[in-house]
Amino acid sequence: MPDIAQYSSYSSLGKNACLVFIVLLLLIPACKFERNMNQNNQSSTSIETTNNDPISIHQRAIAIDMHADTAQRLLDENVDLQQELSDGHFDAVRAKAGGLDAQFFSIWVEPQLFGATGARAMKRADDQIAAVRALAEKHPETWALATSGDDIRAAVNSGKMAALMGLEGGYAIDERLENVKRYYDMGVRYMSPAWSISTSWAGSSGDDVGRTRGLNEFGKNVVREMNRLGMIVDVSHVSDPAFWDIVNTSTAPVVATHSACRAIADVPRNLTDEMIRALANTGGVVNVIFYPEHLEPGWSQKKKQVDAEIATMVQEASAAEPGAAVHKKMARDRVRSREYARRLPPVNVARIVDHIDHIVKLVGIDHVGIGSDFDGVQITTTGLATVAELPNLTKELLSRGYSAEDVNKILGGNMLRVLDAVKR
Ligand SMILES: [Zn+2]
Repeated sequence: MPDIAQYSSYSSLGKNACLVFIVLLLLIPACKFERNMNQNNQSSTSIETTNNDPISIHQRAIAIDMHADTAQRLLDENVDLQQELSDGHFDAVRAKAGGLDAQFFSIWVEPQLFGATGARAMKRADDQIAAVRALAEKHPETWALATSGDDIRAAVNSGKMAALMGLEGGYAIDERLENVKRYYDMGVRYMSPAWSISTSWAGSSGDDVGRTRGLNEFGKNVVREMNRLGMIVDVSHVSDPAFWDIVNTSTAPVVATHSACRAIADVPRNLTDEMIRALANTGGVVNVIFYPEHLEPGWSQKKKQVDAEIATMVQEASAAEPGAAVHKKMARDRVRSREYARRLPPVNVARIVDHIDHIVKLVGIDHVGIGSDFDGVQITTTGLATVAELPNLTKELLSRGYSAEDVNKILGGNMLRVLDAVKR
């Protein structure tokens, strides 16, 4: 059976050759795989290098805007936020382009139109809340209704934007403590006790009575109830005495959702250095507003002059508008927008970062955030005219030496910390 033996020896040679071949086959892809790994490592290093560009840093950060007035547009103008709108400052298309991850929609009750208490004030708030909820229900591919830091993180992980709500001015609670929980249950996660007109229980920075009015006993109980529920107390718009009563009453971090520094722009709406220190001591965050009047020294006085110059024009536009009071207000604001742009000096996005710098120097990197006031103001800054230009803020921060980690904190990380802390 030599043939067989021969065959056998031949075959054993063949077997060895086969084994060598198989081993080689196994080794080659392994080497290739290893090389790929090396290439990947190299390319991941090089990706990391390119990822240090401002846009990548911006896109990676969780960006939370603490204040925009777009809920009124949903209600009064029936705008479709899925489209890129030709006016205003905010829609889903521009928000995505701007790398925004979470928007707090302001539920604003204008007391001159709807009362500082009562059923009409409540209805105005309820209608805006319903409009925000409808937005998320109609477009679940874009929006996720959120009430916590974890909700925001979950929305980001599923590629959606989080929609949250805050009450601007405590008018809608109708001077009843039980209504704080009513609004909490409807999804509201912050409230400023007063907007530009004082409530009976909290002073505003916008009227004369606010200069001496802080919180009365009911107002302090409102703050305690908010603490109990896990609703953030917002000091934007309140009077100085009300600010101090709030920080001295609250046992949870206190936040300014859209304010700036009085040391730079001396307007009553802004916070003094002493106030910023006290707010930081509560663990809170000053979210810097993007509105020129609160950013630029002297701009507020110039605006008052312009308001006097255009008063007749504004009234005429209002009279010519046949619609309801809210539409008359929109007509007035359209004239203001146009005339402010023509008559007032432009303010650059860099000025926003001046305020951020000031707060960081006073109290460190952990107590500053952003609150645009988009769709609530008649004019915005150059370079950050709409939410689509939000990356320019990150560019400016990085150019001043802030790190990627700092940017994460400023854009939303600090507010995530507060949202986690106030949770019941
Ligand atoms: Zn406001």
